Amino acid sequence: TPIIMWFRRDLRLGDHPALTEACKTGRPVIPLFIHDEVVAGQGAAPRFRLGLSVAALHESLADKGSRLILRKGRALDVLRDVIAETGATAVYWSRLYDPDAKGRDTTVKSGLKDDGIDAQSFAGHLLFEPWTVETQTGGFYKVYTPMWKAVRDRDLPGTLSAPSKVPAPDAWPASGDLDDWRMGADMQRGHDVVLPRCTVGESAASHRLGAFIAHRIDDYKAARDIPGVDGTSGLSENLTYGEISPLACWHAGWRALHDGKSDAETFLKELVWREFAYHLIHHTPRLTSGNWREDWDSFPWKTDERLAEVKAWKQARTGIRFVDAAMRELQVTGRMHNRGRMIVASYLTKHLMCHWKIGLDWFADQLIDWDPANNALGWQWSAGSGPDATPYFRVFNPVTQLDKFDKDRDYVKAWLAEEYENPSKTALAFYDAIPLHWNMSPDDAYPDPVVTAEDGRKAALEAYENRDF
Ligand code: FAD
Repeated sequence: TPIIMWFRRDLRLGDHPALTEACKTGRPVIPLFIHDEVVAGQGAAPRFRLGLSVAALHESLADKGSRLILRKGRALDVLRDVIAETGATAVYWSRLYDPDAKGRDTTVKSGLKDDGIDAQSFAGHLLFEPWTVETQTGGFYKVYTPMWKAVRDRDLPGTLSAPSKVPAPDAWPASGDLDDWRMGADMQRGHDVVLPRCTVGESAASHRLGAFIAHRIDDYKAARDIPGVDGTSGLSENLTYGEISPLACWHAGWRALHDGKSDAETFLKELVWREFAYHLIHHTPRLTSGNWREDWDSFPWKTDERLAEVKAWKQARTGIRFVDAAMRELQVTGRMHNRGRMIVASYLTKHLMCHWKIGLDWFADQLIDWDPANNALGWQWSAGSGPDATPYFRVFNPVTQLDKFDKDRDYVKAWLAEEYENPSKTALAFYDAIPLHWNMSPDDAYPDPVVTAEDGRKAALEAYENRDF
């Protein structure tokens, strides 16, 4: 009898424990992707990028004599339908850890078990399952560095090769059509502006990792902080959809380290930041929805999305160059350099005194590499309300940060058109990316700051000093 391989954020064939296990049985495998309640709840850019990834997986499966069956509906209902149509007796999937996915998966697992179906979940999204990493006193890590030290030298299994063939069933169940799902429909800029800048699918992701290890990892430690330089792996859009496994990145990093590329250690550390975020979200799911430090609930952050300063932040016209450059990079590429993310998050939550949830939600709608754990940790870390957070009183100065990390203004020139006689292609692409009603043009005068670096810092520190906790 067939096994249903339910794909979610594991859209690859290589290093895929659940798929490998399914193929090993010799039974027919029915690969299935469901546009379910979790997918429907996601933002415009993540859904757009997910659609690209699903299409790529479909092609990889076709090369293995298989297909990807597409269905839409509540996950448990769809699985029950496909089971009834195919006579499948087992459903395999790779585990996820964020509250939305976990809620769905718990319902699915107990529903299928009640039906007598062999429902099994496997590892694959993380290097270390959250319940395998504990502090000496038995809890989970709330601070990053001790966790890094605890896992750094752990032995991990090698990566699994993609199955040479995915055994097909005698008859295929019906499949929906990806085009009909219109997964990019809510992302106007998706097709023309963002798509040419995406690196989609398993083989492109593994190529990207190879190129990073060959050419950029040598200088990663310093270059990763310079937003005007292509100094990072760029793998976040692939990792978030599972087009590449974290284990493949981990082993590649270790090989580079053993080859004498000492900066590879910093890359391994970044991969462990991702683990840290997932472990936290697993143990404290409120990380995505409320202040992780609950005493921050009384902090007087503004929560009204309609405020002029929120609009200026989203539309990349705060008059603060570092902030606007980063927010424009987001519009054009669907991604943002890590330094940019820290700066825009700090500016929103400190200088503008707006709630981090406004930023978290905007990123969740606009990022093609949106990741429920990394995004939540990034925002709470920046705002000061999270675990291992930067203290609220440490306010990034977006002007001096620019002098430090964009000395020659390469980043600013790449993304801001105003003030330049010959704006760069990328800076001009911003105007193709944005909705018409933003009503912006490269000929506009560059705006004055909505809040200056100094005034914002003063107001933030005052609020912090007067807080009642
Ligand atoms: P590299 O420098 O090449 O790092 C390799 C991988 O390590 C990344 O792909 C990522 O998976 C992981 N990683 C690196 N930095 C971090 C970090 N600080 N926290 C957790 N994991 C990390 N990352 C996302 O993947 N999705 C998000 O939605 C997201 N939102 C963020 C929001 C804010 C406010 C902040 C401050 C950070 C956010 N990050 C997010 C983390 C980080 O900015 C990105 O992972 C990184 O910029 C991706 O680029 P890269 O793949 O070239 O990273």
